Amino acid sequence: MSLRQELRVIPKFVWAIAILVYVGILIGMITIAIPQFPDTANLPKAGMIALGLVAATIPAIYILLLGYVYGDAKRRGMRYVMWTLLAIFVPSALGFILYFIFRDPLPIFCPGCGASVKSTFVFCPRCAVTLRPTCPQCGNALEPSWAHCPHCGAASPSGKAVVPAASPAPRPL
Ligand SMILES: [Zn+2]
Ligand SMILES: [Zn+2]
Repeated sequence: MSLRQELRVIPKFVWAIAILVYVGILIGMITIAIPQFPDTANLPKAGMIALGLVAATIPAIYILLLGYVYGDAKRRGMRYVMWTLLAIFVPSALGFILYFIFRDPLPIFCPGCGASVKSTFVFCPRCAVTLRPTCPQCGNALEPSWAHCPHCGAASPSGKAVVPAASPAPRPL
């Protein structure tokens, strides 16, 4: 995932809010706040603009981060409103950290009908195409690299070629 693709996850209305907040704070800082405080009132014009830019960037980035959580949770089929609220209200950015630890994997696209489906699904809920291998004996989902079913021990139909029974190379610990 490139940064550009990730930025596209942020909804357009969040970009609009972030830009409005950025411009609003920048104008407010330069025209009202900075000239009011004795410490900053005598700054040269360039210094005032620099200070205003810094002050406006922080809340704008915060809003974009919230927008990322909102859009990213939505595309992953998660409860995006709840996660956005957690990111806002859990202090010390803990909501953000929890989100990045517990977020679901990205959905995959069904090869049969193109629907966006959870990567853990075995069959497409829309067209019933098989999305991942299943155990011929107990029917549980298998990873393509597994040689045996972890539920019943049956040999996996797809795993045999990937993991040979007698491997000549010593297995790393
Ligand atoms: Zn499908
Ligand atoms: Zn099995």
